[in-house]
Amino acid sequence: MSSAAPTYDLGKLHGGLRLPAEKAESTAQQIQRMPVPKQIVLPIAQHVGEPAHPIVGIGENVRRGQLVAENWGSLSAPVHASTSGKVVAIEPWPVSRRFGNNAPCIVIDCDGEDLALESPDKGAPYKTYEPTELLERILQGGIVGLGGAVFPTGQKLMQARSMPLEFLILSGVECEPNISCDDRLIRDQSAEALGGAQILMHALNLPSCYVVIESDKPEAINAVGEAMAELDDKRIVLKQVPTIYPSGGEDQLVQLVTNREVPSGGLPTDVGCVVQNVGTAAAIYRWICEDEPLISRITTVTGPGVREPMNVLARVGTTVADVIDFAGGYNEGVDQLVIGGPMCGKSVSTDRVPLVKATNCILALTNTVIHDEPLPCIRCGECASVCPIQLLPQQLYWHTCADDEAKLRTYGLTDCIECGCCDLVCPSHIPLTAEFRNAKARMQELADEKARAERARRRFESRNERREQEKLDRDEELRRQKDNARKAGPEAIEEIVRRQRKKHDQQEDGEE
Ligand code: SF4
Ligand code: SF4
Repeated sequence: MSSAAPTYDLGKLHGGLRLPAEKAESTAQQIQRMPVPKQIVLPIAQHVGEPAHPIVGIGENVRRGQLVAENWGSLSAPVHASTSGKVVAIEPWPVSRRFGNNAPCIVIDCDGEDLALESPDKGAPYKTYEPTELLERILQGGIVGLGGAVFPTGQKLMQARSMPLEFLILSGVECEPNISCDDRLIRDQSAEALGGAQILMHALNLPSCYVVIESDKPEAINAVGEAMAELDDKRIVLKQVPTIYPSGGEDQLVQLVTNREVPSGGLPTDVGCVVQNVGTAAAIYRWICEDEPLISRITTVTGPGVREPMNVLARVGTTVADVIDFAGGYNEGVDQLVIGGPMCGKSVSTDRVPLVKATNCILALTNTVIHDEPLPCIRCGECASVCPIQLLPQQLYWHTCADDEAKLRTYGLTDCIECGCCDLVCPSHIPLTAEFRNAKARMQELADEKARAERARRRFESRNERREQEKLDRDEELRRQKDNARKAGPEAIEEIVRRQRKKHDQQEDGEE
């Protein structure tokens, strides 16, 4: 079908690296569905923004799909029970470092029944919703960006709606080594991902959609081609792109697919594009068409430290230990566990951490190479040649060492996407990305502190202004009453002064 024909008119991506894929083992078999574990652990912060607010109590029975923590504040996403059981604790639990080392979690002892919450909306066709209703509903489903950003999708789309939009870019690009959950999702669940794309196009009134897949994934390309032929929606077009890390980043993908450059500090919507991951689109389809909120995800469990590398469909809240068990257990000599891929992943110190909405990969490593102390920079320029943002990592590094915030801003530290390319090529083994990540965190802390101080200053000033005004009002009132009393004689004046003093003292006490 013509709609499935690949197109190659691509934009150019600066830098990047061609990395060995290491995905053959984990993609060899279909997605394996994990049984319900004995216990699930649901962090209330699984997304960018404010943590959700628990609305269940200890001892309460819950059902699959039931809301257990509601979104809180202007940027947040709700959390739903991923199976039925009893809430046994709401307490700090080890989590992936992205959300702090320990974070509040709702712990549920599963009853094994997996009873679902019944809903009257089940199966309502998406076109029966107004676009704004659809966006609100997407927010309620706890859907977040599954490509790694975990930004609440409903809010991202609401923001996008105010912009003139042209393209939905449905990303199946999975350029980081070892991670293959999106590849396997496209092979096994293309129809759901394309169904999600249609919902998104309806919600945002978008005229066209590019499904983007790397050219070294022929099975995924065939699978999506067949699904597109069946759907026969001419608005949806397949684009193949070369496998270059980090072409899966939103801005890089926009550049590659549309040849439009997202401005520094801007968003893809600034150039008419909305980027969504294929997993997010499939999750939207399941929520809107099958009434299943985001309670499970496909995760790659792989690496030399795991016996049977595979992609599992696991409930959100399943511990990494349970997932590894399901994949045949550990091999001898595991010395590092990483959540995410080898480039952007974060190592964890325990397999008690739960799988969350963001967990695209669990990587068990053996014989990890630990470099000695980094050597001095030799100004080879390799880091700059691979930086996809065209930054100058060696200069940024000097300014991080000097803690020079102004220079760091001038040299574009806030644009760094922490891809790790500069680290990988640095012959001096300087941990550039870690330095940049820390420097960004410090800058954010300073900005937060400044904002807090500014709020306190404004509070103090308005309190002083209020007190000053009250004092003026009191003096005015006293003057007025004295004038009146002068006519009534000295005793009346004394009484007024006594009353005013008492009132003043009471007000002072109240303020203290
Ligand atoms: S790659 Fe490393 S050694 Fe070379 S310029 Fe960059 S920081 Fe310096
Ligand atoms: S980590 Fe930052 S500075 Fe280094 S290559 Fe990636 S974007 Fe450039």
